[in-house]
Amino acid sequence: MKVGIMGGTFDPIHNGHLATAEAVNDALALDQVLFIPAAVPPHKRGRHIADSFHRLAMTILATCSHPNFHVSTVELDREGPSYAVDTVDALKNIFPSDTNFYFILGADAALELHTWHNAFELVSKCFFVAATRQGTDFDLADVHKNFPVELQHHIIHVETPALEISSTDIRDKILRHQSIKYLVPEPVEQYLRKEGLYCDC
Ligand code: ATP
Ligand code: MG
Repeated sequence: MKVGIMGGTFDPIHNGHLATAEAVNDALALDQVLFIPAAVPPHKRGRHIADSFHRLAMTILATCSHPNFHVSTVELDREGPSYAVDTVDALKNIFPSDTNFYFILGADAALELHTWHNAFELVSKCFFVAATRQGTDFDLADVHKNFPVELQHHIIHVETPALEISSTDIRDKILRHQSIKYLVPEPVEQYLRKEGLYCDC
């Protein structure tokens, strides 16, 4: 069994996340992709983050029409910061022992992977898939060089559509009353407008 992990703040989830997950799902013939909203992202403390309830609701709305996409609350259910190494351990306890996990990252995040909590242990436990991220020049060797040789084959690159979409840009657009059509799935837009998220109106 091959299971993709798409972790993120998802504040809000957008078509960049979805298209990336779909491209990797297809390229690696994954059995499923788990979307895992983060509880307290260690690198993002300091700015306001929408309630985890709303981020979870939007993640479910965005993924419900895809038969291979599922949502896990494993990080929201846990106290304290969301460390990927704890998440992978938790998933290994749930899935059959022959499951291989593929942690999907944008190139921006892949270049920072060595700074994650217990990075070497983490990379020894699953595969990492560095996907294309528009705006980030990417060379897999730049990620490999941060890890011991014996772990490097656990980090691979998959070309994915370069979509110039970020949650930051979507939040800015909402504040400025600009359109976010085609940047997020329609039900996500309906939900965040209904709940008044990201706007000071
Ligand atoms: P923010 O602007 O708030 O940082 P974001 O758009 O970067 O939000 P995150 O929730 O931080 O979204 O990202 C979760 C994961 O998805 C990260 O690995 C990130 O690199 C990846 N990702 C986000 N947007 C894209 C995109 N457009 N293309 C490819 N990967 C993406
Ligand atoms: Mg980000």
